Amino acid sequence: MKYISTRGQAPELTFEEAMLTGLARDGGLYLPAEIPVMGQDEIAALAGLPYEEIAFRVMWPYVSGSFGEDEFRGIIARAYQGFGHAARAPLKQLNENHFLLELFHGPTLAFKDFAMQLIGQLFQAALARRGETVTIVGATSGDTGSAAIEAFRGLDAVNVFILFPHGRVSEVQRRQMTTPADSNVHALAVDGDFDDCQARVKDMFNDFAFRDGVRLAGVNSINFARVLAQVVYYFSAATSLGAPHRKVSFTVPTGNFGDIFAGYIAKRMGLPIEQLVVATNQNDILHRCLSGEGYFKGETIPSISPSMDIQVSSNFERALYYAYGQDGAAVSQLMDELQQGGFHVSQGAMQALRDSFTSGRASEEETLATIKATLAASGELLCPHSAVGVKVAEEARRADEAPMITLATAHPAKFPAAVEQASGVFPPLPPRMSDLYERPERVTRIANDLAALQDHIRRHIPA
Ligand SMILES: *Cc1c(COP(=O)(O)O)cnc(C)c1O
Repeated sequence: MKYISTRGQAPELTFEEAMLTGLARDGGLYLPAEIPVMGQDEIAALAGLPYEEIAFRVMWPYVSGSFGEDEFRGIIARAYQGFGHAARAPLKQLNENHFLLELFHGPTLAFKDFAMQLIGQLFQAALARRGETVTIVGATSGDTGSAAIEAFRGLDAVNVFILFPHGRVSEVQRRQMTTPADSNVHALAVDGDFDDCQARVKDMFNDFAFRDGVRLAGVNSINFARVLAQVVYYFSAATSLGAPHRKVSFTVPTGNFGDIFAGYIAKRMGLPIEQLVVATNQNDILHRCLSGEGYFKGETIPSISPSMDIQVSSNFERALYYAYGQDGAAVSQLMDELQQGGFHVSQGAMQALRDSFTSGRASEEETLATIKATLAASGELLCPHSAVGVKVAEEARRADEAPMITLATAHPAKFPAAVEQASGVFPPLPPRMSDLYERPERVTRIANDLAALQDHIRRHIPA
């Protein structure tokens, strides 16, 4: 399988090259040149298989040129062995036609573990074979950083440095980053906000001497390997509810458009999906765009679902690429306009987007009310992100006969303050990590200063 850029001006790469590169050289995002289609009988045969086997069958056509069959099976097995639920992504029934897909049984209690754990093992295997090492530097407002540290800890081909804003992540998120003792992972508490952290990471990538010197690599959500890992649970959930013989719908709490885009890939692979519903919080650029108002940046307003507080959704570029008939020049033009504030979507592309996605938004009050009402009606305690999804799904599914599956993206214990405010219940951590509050922390407080950060990183990677 060859991988091509959404902007059409970068070299074609293999899966492994695209994974290790991340962003394409023309500024675009990598996608498979063709999306493989599974036959209806192949999809039907997935029902009831272990999650790891479904993962292998769904992802194999994408990776087969880069990894051996046994090697890839081993990678999948190692990626998901640390999950706290045998089903990996279990379904819970909320009411007669609405199901919750619990994606929070991984080691850091958010769905990002599904992709990050896999990518950790993929990086290690590819780099060990090449005899190379890389330095991963990332900025986080919480979930991505904890998932990355947990996924890469103890892997000897990779050193990881995560920048987070000092004092501005939740205690659970901070402890998940500061308590792993492995010497190849480093949590850096930066005196600044999330935007400062992100800007310093960008500065490091733009400093080519530094970038080449430490062999910098990125694992943010534009990496296609991360999207691919998320395609799997659409298949496992849908087939367990009767697909392909019965259609299902999905509602996805959305920030960077990675998770919902994985659902779009699943649909193009042949999974019969009726509706793909984009659920946003008050930062609703995607909902406004899908409602026909164009794609214009607003100001990000902090919410109780912070992992969705995003105004420019990086993976939306991939949806635009298909909506514009795989025209890289058109996508390039739109992204230039975005630099100036935003763009209107052409009529044809708007129709294509509407054929694939519907959307809704939930206010802060609606999110809190949904946590409370869902607990009362079904006994299920939702995290605020999942609650945005449930609220939007309940509205979307009225005209829809297919069962609705809402993706529960984090465990309520990761966002205890909002959950307690809404429901009066303080969500406890799962028993397997109940000592998180007692484990010793290891963190470096550091100035919001490029030179200081670069110096720290250089001194902490093995020669
Ligand atoms: C990252 C995240 C999201 C948003 O996912 P995208 O792939 O960026 O759309 C939603 N909920 C939680 C808990 C997250 O960590």
